[in-house]
Amino acid sequence: MTAKNYNRLINNLDELKLRSIRDALPEYLTLVDQNEKDFIQALYELTELEKEAKQERIIRACVRTAGFPFMKEISDFDFGFQPSLNKGKIMELSTLRFVENHENVLFLGTPGTGKTHLATALGIEAARSHYSTCFISCQTLIEHLKRAEHENRLEDKLKHYARYRLLIIDEIGYLNLDSRAANLLFQLISRRYEKRSTIITTNVEFGEWERLLGDPVIANAILDRLLHHSHVLKIMGPSYRTKDIFKPKKERLQKVGADD
Ligand code: ADP
Ligand code: MG
Repeated sequence: MTAKNYNRLINNLDELKLRSIRDALPEYLTLVDQNEKDFIQALYELTELEKEAKQERIIRACVRTAGFPFMKEISDFDFGFQPSLNKGKIMELSTLRFVENHENVLFLGTPGTGKTHLATALGIEAARSHYSTCFISCQTLIEHLKRAEHENRLEDKLKHYARYRLLIIDEIGYLNLDSRAANLLFQLISRRYEKRSTIITTNVEFGEWERLLGDPVIANAILDRLLHHSHVLKIMGPSYRTKDIFKPKKERLQKVGADD
């Protein structure tokens, strides 16, 4: 290949924004030159690199727009650590049939058991499959709805949150909700009922939602709509956050050494 042709090729790759192919090109040219890879194989591997990079970019963009708290996927989840959790059920949910069927997913469990992780993982999967997805903490959602109501644009805001194919409301129950908040949550859940999927994570047993929402009628109305057509995953187990604290001291010290 002449230097002129090489530069033209680089220009085309730049123009087409095929950055991964461009970066790996010198290495692959050497491999082809030395007959270690044939042309087709090299081209195939280069396009695979580009495809992977594109997938990564899509995920990053979806993480930015959907508001996920972190990039954790199902493959990052250690099911061995949480044996009470039905792995098969999570794998089934990851097919996203529940989104197609407008079903809800409710993760119930104590702190650190992976509720937010799994909700995020399903959300990333959904966003990757081009379902409009939004992750929001319950507290922020209520703040947004209250502000919108105050500014006389509640209808628009409710429509906005009702439209997402998948809405993840994280941490229902960390703070008690006042009656206005409970009512706003009810309005949103009603609009999504049987039309859109909602994932919620909570540390509060459903029987205690009356106390949480300060109103038995609203609590039952919300739970009724959330639980009808739903998948409830109760995670009974230790906290992953504090797992090392309860290990024998020797093991912990070894781990610190290994991380260094
Ligand atoms: P929760 O929402 O139930 O309080 P999180 O999902 O936020 O807990 O989990 C706390 C941290 O521990 C996160 O960084 C999460 O990725 C991690 N984590 C929790 N459970 C597991 C697990 N079984 N395997 C791998 N990481 C986990
Ligand atoms: Mg959480």
